[in-house]
Amino acid sequence: MRLNAQVAPDLFLLKVKGRFPAGPGRFYMLRAWDLDPPLSRPLSVLDRTDEEISFLYAVRGRGTELLSRLSPGDPLTLFGPLGNGWARAGERVALIGGGVGIAPLLYTARLFGKVDVYLAFAEGRSWSMNLKQWPAGSTSPLSPGKELGRD
Ligand SMILES: Cc1cc2nc3c(=O)[nH]c(=O)nc-3n(C[C@H](O)[C@H](O)[C@H](O)COP(=O)(O)OP(=O)(O)OC[C@H]3O[C@@H](n4cnc5c(N)ncnc54)[C@H](O)[C@@H]3O)c2cc1C
Repeated sequence: MRLNAQVAPDLFLLKVKGRFPAGPGRFYMLRAWDLDPPLSRPLSVLDRTDEEISFLYAVRGRGTELLSRLSPGDPLTLFGPLGNGWARAGERVALIGGGVGIAPLLYTARLFGKVDVYLAFAEGRSWSMNLKQWPAGSTSPLSPGKELGRD
């Protein structure tokens, strides 16, 4: 594990070094503990390169709380990629997500090329996301009652 940075209250960006062959819309089961809790926790691929993979996760309960305490170099197990993922279905594609549900959309947008992206956040729950990493001209980040500009 290379980075585990808090990017907003209860929201973390996790980066893991290595080559992880995941297509858009797929997820990994993450585990940084021995027996308790028994199940690994699923997180969608936020982004990936040939050198690393990243995840965006909200701290909800025990599993994500344990993940949030990880420091660079701590061991972490990833199982996957899982899920069917998705392929570009047509000429014009809209990606729509809200809250931490936007996680799988960044990598999808980068791979698909030109897409329309709509992001929604509850009032007070948006976080600083570098919108410049999204394909130029594709984003329409929305929050209730107001439109956010690009960072
Ligand atoms: C395919 C997939 C992809 C996902 N991708 C992402 C992602 O990219 N980013 C992300 O942030 N999340 C993602 N999630 C959700 C994420 O996996 C869960 O938030 C995480 O597994 C929660 O684990 P936890 O141990 O932190 O919380 P848990 O302990 O499992 O608890 C989850 C919630 O339920 C509540 N709860 C727990 N036990 C009880 C109980 N007995 N009664 C009532 N409430 C209870 C907790 O208070 C908490 O609010 C994804 C889920 C799936 C299925």
